Amino acid sequence: MSNATTYQLLINGSWRGGSGTLTVTNPATEAVFGSVAAASASDLDEALASAERSRRAWSSRPAKERGEILVAASRILATKVGDAAKELSREQGKTIAEATGEYARAVETLEWYGTHAEELSAPVPHGPNRMIVPEPLGVVAAFTPWNYPAVLIARKLAPALAAGCPVILKGAEETPSAAVHIVEALRQAGIPDGVVNLVFGVPAQISEHLLNSPIVKVLTFTGSTAVGKHLAKLAANNLQRCVLELGGHSPVVVCEDADLAKAVPAISEYKFECAGQSCNAPSRILVARTRYEEFLSRMTEAARKIKIGPPDDPTTEMGPMANARRIEAMQGLVKDAVDRGASIETGGTRLDQPGFYWPPTILTGVAKDAKVLHDEPFGPILTVAPFDTLEEAIEEANATEYGLAAYFFTGADDTKRALIGGVSAGAVSVNYLKGVSADAPYGGVKQSGYGYEGGEQGMRSFQSLKLVNGLGS
Ligand code: NAD
Repeated sequence: MSNATTYQLLINGSWRGGSGTLTVTNPATEAVFGSVAAASASDLDEALASAERSRRAWSSRPAKERGEILVAASRILATKVGDAAKELSREQGKTIAEATGEYARAVETLEWYGTHAEELSAPVPHGPNRMIVPEPLGVVAAFTPWNYPAVLIARKLAPALAAGCPVILKGAEETPSAAVHIVEALRQAGIPDGVVNLVFGVPAQISEHLLNSPIVKVLTFTGSTAVGKHLAKLAANNLQRCVLELGGHSPVVVCEDADLAKAVPAISEYKFECAGQSCNAPSRILVARTRYEEFLSRMTEAARKIKIGPPDDPTTEMGPMANARRIEAMQGLVKDAVDRGASIETGGTRLDQPGFYWPPTILTGVAKDAKVLHDEPFGPILTVAPFDTLEEAIEEANATEYGLAAYFFTGADDTKRALIGGVSAGAVSVNYLKGVSADAPYGGVKQSGYGYEGGEQGMRSFQSLKLVNGLGS
């Protein structure tokens, strides 16, 4: 297996180098500390061939046994979390506590699909004479990003493998260690050679090469809407099924009766996790006008109190952003908003020290055409604005092209019903900011993507449902 700072490819059950290397940087110091192998076209062809060779045996292996391998892998991974979380923190910038929590969710996801593999592969009677038989679709290309590399890999690998599909995983080149640890846990748990292949490299070259192959039957991707659309076009040539988990721009509606003592810490904690680089992080806060000043003052105070620092310092509450591109994006969004008349309540400029540090930032008076209200911020920037009527709040909540998550704070049942029904999002949460779990489906609407990860529907993404008629004939 790879040593601590050189991450390799896994092809047909063997760890090896590629045709070149890419560097891995510590975002807290901006220092390069490692490298990751880059796959060549022939490495990818070998991955495709080995996945295809392994397909028949893996798909016909009893689902119970596939599940047992996933459960064994989850136990192996659980023993590695301490060191793996430190490695993830060093390359991603999230705190060690956040990285540890993320690994716990990856472990839970492997276990959930392991324990449900048999049940979700079983034929389902459909009336007296019919049966629905789930069948694995075939080789999966899985492309995962750098913000939550452990849990997002688990959410793709576990259901695909449980369903009986081999996977070619492209891990995130900026944060490769989670892919290596999860794939190695599967290998140690006895997954046959070729059933999981891990590649890294130039993303556009890898995705084009893999999706050009008719061997690949499913694409599962998490990343930006622009890249998701590009990949869906490539996948159209071979009619590969797509699961696309794309961007978000999630509103929070804080109503007149909201309990601000609960709402503000909940928003602050969820928003600034992973330095705001979560697809379902709240980004636009709409507050009933009668509570606006009180909310803004509490929210600004909470944001200012967050302790920013090195992610390996246990007292740090928010680490750096993952890369220089995110700092440039924050600078562009703040400048554009201020040029159009916005005020900065707190934050707003990069910290003057090495590392990609951007403080929690709150903008008010933001013009409706400002980029920050339309482009996915993907960082620790919040906008806060007042509303007068619930209809206005719903209209504002729906005023982006995204539809991933939305959050509401109110105690009134009729207000909850109006918001739940009126706001377009894949997931809505009331008086609560969490959402993604192993056992429940999660997916976006509008430009946030299509298809589901999590729960039964997450496994159905990798299955065809064969309808068998005439059983009583
Ligand atoms: P990006 O859009 O270039 O890359 C996002 C992810 O997609 C990366 O992991 C990258 O390796 C991958 N990618 C890019 N081009 C690809 C291709 N042609 N084929 C396969 N994979 C490809 O941008 P970025 O600067 O890395 O990230 C910033 C933006 O990405 C954010 O603004 C956010 O919208 C989005 N993003 C979303 C999520 C999410 O959880 N939905 C995660 C990471 C990034």
